[in-house]
Amino acid sequence: MRDPAPQLGHLTYPKLRLKDNLLDENPNVIQFQSKYGSFQLHEPPTTNLGTLSRLPLELLQQVLYQLDIATIVDFRRVNRQAFTILDSVSAYHAVAKHARNALCGIIAIVTGKWITCGTLYKKLSTPGCEICGDFGGYLYLLTCKRVCFLCLSENPLYLPLRISHACRKFGLGSEIVNKLPCMRVIPGTYSPNEKKVARCILVDYESARIAGITAHGSISAMTRFVSDLQTQKDEKYNARKAAALSLGDRSTHIRRPPALDPYDALSGNPFRFGAIARVACLDIATQELERGFHCLGCERAKRLPLHYRRKFMVASFKDHLAQYGGIKNGEHHLG
Ligand SMILES: [Zn+2]
Ligand SMILES: [Zn+2]
Repeated sequence: MRDPAPQLGHLTYPKLRLKDNLLDENPNVIQFQSKYGSFQLHEPPTTNLGTLSRLPLELLQQVLYQLDIATIVDFRRVNRQAFTILDSVSAYHAVAKHARNALCGIIAIVTGKWITCGTLYKKLSTPGCEICGDFGGYLYLLTCKRVCFLCLSENPLYLPLRISHACRKFGLGSEIVNKLPCMRVIPGTYSPNEKKVARCILVDYESARIAGITAHGSISAMTRFVSDLQTQKDEKYNARKAAALSLGDRSTHIRRPPALDPYDALSGNPFRFGAIARVACLDIATQELERGFHCLGCERAKRLPLHYRRKFMVASFKDHLAQYGGIKNGEHHLG
């Protein structure tokens, strides 16, 4: 691994002493990952790939690069020849070596059919958070995006939704939502404040939103449909309640319609951590891993742009110092 920043070491520190309880820290995923990684061929292949053997190796490698993770994992199981050919795809080899936690996380939450080997490789080798551009130390494995801690814990796009919530929020039927990128939550403890989550299915927020806009024709049409429907449900509830009360019935419980959005505790919302793996960035030219580092001047800061969760690389850290000043006594000072 690359030294975080030799010339800046006295102004930075490599990691926080916090446990975020991500998907790749779930014991089931850790166990699966070590099983996946320890599988080795003890004997060379004795059979070929049948009809596929007619294709030149380079073409097979290109096809495998473009195939989705679910398919290449099935292909890997076909026979020893398939295992060897897949391992000869340099992108897969890099992913299996440097992002095995993400690869196994994808298999565990069953999102492999929406993510290609090539996409995972590109995200492995791109450092920036796709929302804010800061160093992104994580991959969101529902649709494979690189993201930083602050965006994954605060941006709506990184909050996977229950199917019923997505239907309500974007005015969609479950037959549409069920076809969108969904994940199977691995039961366990997630988020820094250790919230337990049971088995359930969650859908990607952005995919559901786009499906909603497409189905209704525009954002405004979707918003109107959703708010009209919610008003109708509220009115129906109020009418039923009033009717029960007028009959002197106080014992029948009439269920209030669910709110459009349940409370989102942001970094305390376990749904935001069930598809997240910590993944360093692979520098393709040097084959070194970049994990980013924290700023000592922001160690106690909690309000952006100064925040202890932000991570930097050498260039972005120099810009950060130029913008907010050098560090004295653990704080930035301009001038
Ligand atoms: Zn970000
Ligand atoms: Zn700073």
